[in-house]
Amino acid sequence: MAGAADSFDVVIIGGGPAGSVAATLLADAGHRVAVFERERFPRYHIGESLLSATLPILDAIGATPLIERHGFLRKPGGTFLWGRQEEPWSFWFREDPGGRPYAYQVVRAEFDMILLDNARAHGAAVHEEHSVTAIGDDGGLPVVDVCAADGATRRQAFRLVVLPQVRVGLIAVAVFAFIRAWEEYIFVRTMLIENKNWVMSLYLFWVSDDIMGVDYGIVAAVCVFYVLPSLLLYVFCQKYLTQMTIGGIRG
Ligand SMILES: Cc1cc2nc3c(=O)[nH]c(=O)nc-3n(C[C@H](O)[C@H](O)[C@H](O)COP(=O)(O)OP(=O)(O)OC[C@H]3O[C@@H](n4cnc5c(N)ncnc54)[C@H](O)[C@@H]3O)c2cc1C
Repeated sequence: MAGAADSFDVVIIGGGPAGSVAATLLADAGHRVAVFERERFPRYHIGESLLSATLPILDAIGATPLIERHGFLRKPGGTFLWGRQEEPWSFWFREDPGGRPYAYQVVRAEFDMILLDNARAHGAAVHEEHSVTAIGDDGGLPVVDVCAADGATRRQAFRLVVLPQVRVGLIAVAVFAFIRAWEEYIFVRTMLIENKNWVMSLYLFWVSDDIMGVDYGIVAAVCVFYVLPSLLLYVFCQKYLTQMTIGGIRG
């Protein structure tokens, strides 16, 4: 393992569209950026139907002329066959106020390669066939461990690591983990015998199962306190959770 000799401001794991866009914008802003991509491009990828909302992003990274020159198919809208609905329904990009009247249908292997090459042209150090195997700390310096296709390994120092699309997943997992622990009933019912140790789920069951008559006022009050932490957590996290991309359009 080589030492943490080279130091970058940002290490980006994955040279897909998200990684390439982030690398280009950060390099344009004057940061030293390294991209590590596991595959050698062009590589097969699914997700070829773009929305018109992606066009301003292509403008921002200076890729629009490259995409135009490549000659990807322009499409004016999309048609959905949705759920059990038998009738397809269509929409047109021109109906999006302030939006663009078209989008592209791309071959992802070619599209992703154009964006990655564009990041390279803007100054990002792109390493294909380099898998990131670990993120850690080397004497107080944040580092990633990288393994090349030929088996060679290296350690890369950085100030910031970008994991495109992973943050949303991590937040969702954290929210579900919290809710799962908070609503636990069977385990705590078995293990917590004394009522002074009871958790909210046991208390809620107890107040709603009183053979002397249920006081629904207390049940409602306990319910409010029971759902409040999950609701607050969701309200706090929702702006991150709604940042996912939309796909699956035929035009
Ligand atoms: C079935 C399906 C259909 C879809 N259809 C559409 C569509 O029609 N339109 C649309 O806009 N979107 C669509 N999508 C979504 C679209 O594919 C994704 O939003 C898009 O690919 C996300 O880009 P990305 O750069 O975040 O990730 P990716 O394109 O997946 O790129 C991530 C890159 O990271 C690399 N990588 C992963 N781990 C490591 C590692 N440890 N070290 C180094 N490199 C690593 C991978 O090799 C990969 O190249 C679809 C997705 C699916 C699953």
